[in-house]
Amino acid sequence: MPFPAQDHGCPGWKGEMARRISEFDWAATDLGAIQNWPRSLTASVQMLLASPVPLVLLWGQSGYMIYNDAYAIFAGGRHPYLLGCQVEHGWPEVAEFNRHVMVTCLAGGTLSYRDKQLVLLREGKPEEVWMDLYYSPVADDTGAPAGVLAIVVETTARVLTERWRQRAEAELRETNERLQLALNTGAVLGTWVLDVRTGSVTGDERFARTFAFPLEEATKGVERNAATQVIHPDDQALNDRLTLEAMRTGQPFRAEYRIRRRDGDYMWVQANGQCEFNEQGEPTRFPGVLIDIHERKIAEQSLRQLTETLEQRVADAVAAQALAEEQLRQAQKMEAIGSLTGGVAHDFNNVLQVINGNLQMLAADAGDSPAMLRRLSAATDAVKRGAKLAAHLLAFARRQPLSPTVLNPRRLLAGMSEMLHRALGETVKIETVLSDDLWHVQADRNQLENALLNLAINARDAMQADGTLTVRAANRVLDAAFCHGKPELSPGEYVVFSVTDTGTGMKPEILERVFEPFFTTKPDGHGTGLGLSMVFGFVRQSGGHTVIDSEEGQGTTVSLFFPRCCEPETPEAVDQTAAPVGGGETILVVEDDADVRLTAVEMLAQLGYKVLTASSADAALEFVDSDVPIDLLFTDVVMPGKVKSVELAQRAAARSPAVPTLFTSGYTRDEIVHHGKLDAGITLLSKPYRRDDLARKVRSVLRAGVARVVGVGDGQIAPCVPRKAYDPASASEASGTSVSGRHESLHEPVPSLENSPENSVTNSLPGSMASPPVHQPGKPARVLLVEDDLDSREALSDLLGALGLDCTAVASAEDALPLVPAQRYDILFTDLTLPGMSGDNLARAVLRLQPDIRVLLVSGYGKSAQIGEAIPGARLLGKPLDISQLRRELAEWLDHTEAAS
Ligand code: ADP
Ligand code: MG
Repeated sequence: MPFPAQDHGCPGWKGEMARRISEFDWAATDLGAIQNWPRSLTASVQMLLASPVPLVLLWGQSGYMIYNDAYAIFAGGRHPYLLGCQVEHGWPEVAEFNRHVMVTCLAGGTLSYRDKQLVLLREGKPEEVWMDLYYSPVADDTGAPAGVLAIVVETTARVLTERWRQRAEAELRETNERLQLALNTGAVLGTWVLDVRTGSVTGDERFARTFAFPLEEATKGVERNAATQVIHPDDQALNDRLTLEAMRTGQPFRAEYRIRRRDGDYMWVQANGQCEFNEQGEPTRFPGVLIDIHERKIAEQSLRQLTETLEQRVADAVAAQALAEEQLRQAQKMEAIGSLTGGVAHDFNNVLQVINGNLQMLAADAGDSPAMLRRLSAATDAVKRGAKLAAHLLAFARRQPLSPTVLNPRRLLAGMSEMLHRALGETVKIETVLSDDLWHVQADRNQLENALLNLAINARDAMQADGTLTVRAANRVLDAAFCHGKPELSPGEYVVFSVTDTGTGMKPEILERVFEPFFTTKPDGHGTGLGLSMVFGFVRQSGGHTVIDSEEGQGTTVSLFFPRCCEPETPEAVDQTAAPVGGGETILVVEDDADVRLTAVEMLAQLGYKVLTASSADAALEFVDSDVPIDLLFTDVVMPGKVKSVELAQRAAARSPAVPTLFTSGYTRDEIVHHGKLDAGITLLSKPYRRDDLARKVRSVLRAGVARVVGVGDGQIAPCVPRKAYDPASASEASGTSVSGRHESLHEPVPSLENSPENSVTNSLPGSMASPPVHQPGKPARVLLVEDDLDSREALSDLLGALGLDCTAVASAEDALPLVPAQRYDILFTDLTLPGMSGDNLARAVLRLQPDIRVLLVSGYGKSAQIGEAIPGARLLGKPLDISQLRRELAEWLDHTEAAS
């Protein structure tokens, strides 16, 4: 029975599946031709076809599949193959599951599943699907179950959506938690959202607090401009630019800026955000968060500052270090030159003293011979020049004896005015600027005048007699800052004398050296290079400081800083001019240098005094502690030996009646000079002195009697010492003292030079000196003279010849050595520095050949020349040698008629 056109199979069947079912060849299956189907089956198919829900009927024991259109869609690629297929074949991948369904339902049971997960191969590939499945039996015409109706609702989409939703929810929860945590750390200062279209900003509670908005306003939304007002004016442009950029590009936004807090201070924040866009690509929302970065920013800034200034600070430190080193170097240099200069001047003065003394004695004997007097006067002038030079050197070395008095600077400068005008000439204009109420200073008037005059003369030279010289005196209080880097200067009150010129000024390399003695830029004969070194030494010795400011082409200012003195001005002393003569008083002369001692003795004897001499303070103590009458102690300040001159003076003062002391010195050390001042009660006569000076000083000390002789450091007078009875013989022998007077012999006993430490090279073989030289009396002694300098060799050779010695002179040790075995010599007289083998090595070699030879070593470096290992019995002499010294050294060999001549 054919189906009507619209109806397929059975009347009322409609649609695609109705057609397919109608046309299917059911006769080939167990169901048989469709026309023969039982009613129940046809009715079930009709119901199924009418349902919009995917339904499938599994008929018969094998479950032949008959399904509707909705199921066909569900079946995907398996449709239409599934139609009329046994279910186990139709879905072989879930055959097991379906078998269970068939068995259960054909037995009358039902099954239902929600979101049953199965893997199906609908399109040829495995597919994970979820379904709601409902199975129920369908009865045949007899009422017994003959098939199973399955309602298949695929829920895959819903299940997946649900899963995704759950995952998204979990993620959201997590994100929220994290955000909450971040917000709670305090680093977050608030979150905000900019509504791009309206331009209003909404923020959370923190945002409201940070930007000082009421919370309602912040949640409702404020104008962006109102919000950005709290941003530091310097940072607003940057924030605007970055915001616009983020809205244009969609890139994350990040800006660091300062915002004004409630208290008015600014704090650094970082804003992070990202603009959101609609489908048209227009910016819509712009959410973000504010973070507190203040501390990090401040740390960064100070680090940057530190790094930026680091280079400068390192450079400053290096420069300061270099300056300090330079100052130290300069100070050390001046110190070294100072002690060298002082030493030279000291020895020089002793030399001058001998010459001067002898010249004066010669002058007394010269009678009227004009030629003789002329020579004597020339020689005396030379001594004076030498003495001046030595005085300058001592001044630099801070060892000139100073007689400081309290001076009024105004009166001092007024007194110098005429002298300055004379020294500077007509063309130089002199201006004097003195402040009112100038403080007093304590200084040696003559030396201070001398210093200022030196500065004025330097200024004149620098101005080439055309310019202005300004002399100033002013009070100044120096603070620590000014004294920084000037170790000689301490903060306090000073009077500053300054001399300013408008001259050439100095280059730095010259300025650096001007204080060095003998440094001059002036042509020969115009400068000594001693002016500024003298000024430097004098000012330092007076407790002050010299500062030079000079600029090339601009002129120079030299400032002398003297500490303020609060004592009243010392009245000026009246000059004593007459040279008084002695009245037969006894003077004990203590002096270690034999020549100086001799000169002093002779001068005093000529002046009419009785003289006792001692070569050391130790020896002099013998006299002082005895009953010998002494009216005056005249002693050198510095001498070898245990007893110091000051101690000796104390002992003399302790005698009854007390004996006054007159000190003399080539320079003064701390024994009697403290801080540039003579100790109270001490009178000093500087070497070299003239007979008149000596006469005047001796008289004045004798007249004054004993003042207070202050002990060094303790200010105590030495206790009275019990006296011994004086035994002239034992005193003389034991300690090299002697008595001489006006009418007695002026000859000095030869001092015990052998044992004096400064002269003896060694005394390790005491016997060698004691043993007499092997020399036959009558015959001249033989001298082997070794000297490389031709002039010296000839002069010495002549001198030795004149002394009556038989002299062989050679130029080197190498020439000398071969002579020794062949010829017997009494004396080896050799220079220390020779071109080949040195003099001391020659002496050692010769001594091996001839152990009893007398060795005399001479050196241009003087008695302190360095030789290696000690040479037994050898004597070391300094150049230049004078005849009296030679006589002394060679006394044993000399013909006594010659020696006495
Ligand atoms: P002297 O004047 O004998 O050269 P000083 O010790 O007085 O020795 O001065 C040393 C050097 O210092 C001078 O040769 C000169 O180069 C420089 N000098 C000193 N004073 C001045 C000055 N006022 N202006 C320029 N240079 C000066
Ligand atoms: Mg000068």
